[in-house]
Amino acid sequence: MRVISVEPLQCSNGWETWTFVRAATDDGRVGYGECSDWQMPRGLAGAVRDLAVEVVGRDPRQVAALTDDMAARMRQNVGGLARKALAGIEAALWDLKGQALGAPIVELLGGPTRERIRVYWSHCGSYRARHAEVLGTPPLDSWDALAALGREAARRGYTALKTNPLRPGDPAYFARPPDGNLERGDLAVIVRQIETLRAAAGPDVDICLDLNFRYRPAAVIQIARALEPCELFWLEYDSYDPQALAHVRRSIRTPLCSGENLTAVHDYARFFQAGAMDVAMVDVAWNGIAQSLHVAELAKAHEVQVAPHNYYSHVSTWMCAHVAAAVSNLRIMEIDVDAAPWRDALVSAVPRIEHGWMIPAWTPGLGTQLDEDVLHAHPPPIT
Ligand SMILES: [Mg+2]
Repeated sequence: MRVISVEPLQCSNGWETWTFVRAATDDGRVGYGECSDWQMPRGLAGAVRDLAVEVVGRDPRQVAALTDDMAARMRQNVGGLARKALAGIEAALWDLKGQALGAPIVELLGGPTRERIRVYWSHCGSYRARHAEVLGTPPLDSWDALAALGREAARRGYTALKTNPLRPGDPAYFARPPDGNLERGDLAVIVRQIETLRAAAGPDVDICLDLNFRYRPAAVIQIARALEPCELFWLEYDSYDPQALAHVRRSIRTPLCSGENLTAVHDYARFFQAGAMDVAMVDVAWNGIAQSLHVAELAKAHEVQVAPHNYYSHVSTWMCAHVAAAVSNLRIMEIDVDAAPWRDALVSAVPRIEHGWMIPAWTPGLGTQLDEDVLHAHPPPIT
């Protein structure tokens, strides 16, 4: 069994680009992975082609050895697009290995530790505020629309949701403070937003707020304290400084989630040693399946839980599901509920979600194939 080709495949998610890896073998198998990156899809496709030379002509079942060789090739370009490309290829190798052995990837990782995976409705409101037309959803043009969305999440059985700071409207308002400062008006918007969702979704739905890199630590602390009555499931905040995050974490009572932009145990180790987070967001499509497990194990050694970062297609959802099912320190898994109408048609196996839980029906390899006709019918917005 030899790999005869490794190539990037790209299509539109409605406004950005989904990036996949397709690896074919000389015995007629095709394996898929995903490594989507919104900002640099052309560079990412090039990185996949650059790393493919380490894999073509070799046995895809040697996942670890091939991953080591790809890692050696990107030694002068650690992290970033190179790591994402490696992760996409590595997932396709796991897919091929699983198919060849007739085993789901999760079985190759030690077998599932759970039969179902709790998921949260991510970008709840954030996508409708920007892309309602593409999504085919009601717009988020008023506070009433936000309340209706909170009720919808509860009615559809979700036990958790995540949103980003926004004020509903036409257009909706997203604070983008260039200096990371928190203005009084923006804090008032955030409090009203979370209070509205809390009241509408009810007391049984957990709420997360993702600030990304938007604010400086003092502002994050101010937001966390203002939202204490809403009892957030977690406050999410990204920073490349472990000490800054640790300061935030020590200063607030709300669990702190971070780490989606980190890659590989070398990155995470500094943050775990600093006590920088309660929950580590781990992007499987950017780290790779094996590396995500290593990060999860390191997190466990520091009493930290992990939450797969998954705002992509369902190829990524399946990659995350294998990892989420294999680990024993899972907090919850991300999934976008609002998505382009063709997202389901892209995959042969649409994840089964019931009452806010993903119930995987494991099949050999990744467990899904890409429908490349659907993919080609939706070319990427940037070519
Ligand atoms: Mg995030």
